[in-house]
Amino acid sequence: MSDLARSVFGDDAPAKPLAVVVDLDDTVCTGFDCPIRCAVDVLARIDRQRVTVHYVTARTDVSRTGTDRFIMDHRLPGWRHVHYCPKWQGSKSHKAQVHVHLVKEYRVIASIGDLDEEEGEAARLAGVPFVRVDRSNPVPAWAELEKLLDTNGAFGTPTG
Ligand SMILES: [Mg+2]
Repeated sequence: MSDLARSVFGDDAPAKPLAVVVDLDDTVCTGFDCPIRCAVDVLARIDRQRVTVHYVTARTDVSRTGTDRFIMDHRLPGWRHVHYCPKWQGSKSHKAQVHVHLVKEYRVIASIGDLDEEEGEAARLAGVPFVRVDRSNPVPAWAELEKLLDTNGAFGTPTG
């Protein structure tokens, strides 16, 4: 629902759907398509009906085929929502713009990435919690994101 609709419907407006914003390089993978295991494990468990995954990346459209393949190969959610950086735009400005756009449509649980000056700055601008990935040890950041997702019911009800 847009901000306009929200202003029209006021308190009757349905809650915004949930989303999580995820950087790709050095956050979910290294060297373009080498998966970071803890990242893939958390993302693959997300209940797609409950939380939409949006990838916000400095990659341009040129990388689309390889990016799609990576997402499919690892059965990650969100392949329809990869926000590539337009060739005319800097990655920092692109990430900021997408974050600000997404908070209009979604309640963004968090944004996760390895660059504080890019996605970290973008998240703060949009008022979204930021989880920074340490490239040399991504496990704690993904554990933190997992906790935030779990608190928001992102993994659904465990079965069996
Ligand atoms: Mg990155």
